[in-house]
Amino acid sequence: MATIIIDYTYYPFLQKPEEIISIRLPGLKLSKIINTPGSPARSRALEILESIISKGRIKPSRQDSETEVLAFHALLTAIKIIGDKKLAQKIAVIYSKHSWTRLREEPLPVIVSIAKALGINTEIAKKPVKIPVGAKGKTIIYNVKPVVIKLKDYLSLLHRLAMDPKYALVNQILDKGYVYLEKELFTRILEEAVARRIMRIYDEIIIENPDEYSGFINDVKNILEKTGWFEKQKLTVEIEKTTSGVIDLEAFPPCMKNLLNRLVNGENLGHHERFAIAAFLARIGMDVDTILEYFKHAPDYNEKIARYQIEHIAGLRGSRKKYLPYNCDTMKSYGLCPIQDYCEGGRNPLAVYKRNVWKKLRGKGGKKTNNNPKKAEE
Ligand code: SF4
Repeated sequence: MATIIIDYTYYPFLQKPEEIISIRLPGLKLSKIINTPGSPARSRALEILESIISKGRIKPSRQDSETEVLAFHALLTAIKIIGDKKLAQKIAVIYSKHSWTRLREEPLPVIVSIAKALGINTEIAKKPVKIPVGAKGKTIIYNVKPVVIKLKDYLSLLHRLAMDPKYALVNQILDKGYVYLEKELFTRILEEAVARRIMRIYDEIIIENPDEYSGFINDVKNILEKTGWFEKQKLTVEIEKTTSGVIDLEAFPPCMKNLLNRLVNGENLGHHERFAIAAFLARIGMDVDTILEYFKHAPDYNEKIARYQIEHIAGLRGSRKKYLPYNCDTMKSYGLCPIQDYCEGGRNPLAVYKRNVWKKLRGKGGKKTNNNPKKAEE
């Protein structure tokens, strides 16, 4: 059996700091190492934090994997002491993307080992599924699905990806309780698993004496100050307050203006169209009753059914999952995006809306605000 080597520089969340310390620095504690000015792990943790906040990525490492593991855990510990779960989530997402850039290049046995280390029930398929998708001359081109993952694990990891038809179960090959996946899809699923693992590590951190980290925490706070993290959070709260329960048509991206206008004009919107607008309205903070006021214009309106569906989308029923609106690529694939390119502000109508509100708060946008459903067609 071939030896499998995992480079923890890219997957520091797979190792515990104690494992490193007991070999490299026996007798020391993470707090002692990290609170020592100029220690490589401390410097690297601060460097990572700065690049996450200011550039939305992790600056490539010039350190060994042990330092990378210590820096990762020190950073999460500091954020736990500060008590900023939102920042922890940002760190988790960026680490997961960072890992994915490496993961997709790894040989399959390494990917499967990492998946298992993340607690996923998966194997390399004994007989990979091969689906013919075209031909080049006399050569048939196949879409190969070389990995199987237990159905339960697949479904549990879909959360944020569930709205992308590429991941829908109806588009997968399923056999005896296992889903067959191609490498690309599998690594994307692992990206989600990594973000979750990091949040689990964060949730389970117990700090007995926060003062042992005081010097390091000061440096972390300085970086958060310098990169504008605190200011941005204040503005986000302001945006949430401003947008909560308010339909600000000027700030809507064209796709949502279009869907809302068609709904108010009594058009019979399709399933995806209804989902897109309902998820969007719920996410900008509109309550279910107000959303229903818009849906009353639908020709086949049935309050009981509509309320059930909207409450489900808003995360008030069933799995309690609050759905995100489709991202822009999915909107485009369903023909729901009325523009050629992309709006400024992100690749999701929600991000575009928030960015537009942000601009208005900073005095660059229009002033009109309207929460009257009847005026949606203006
Ligand atoms: S680019 Fe995105 S936000 Fe803009 S109109 Fe298209 S789907 Fe909507």
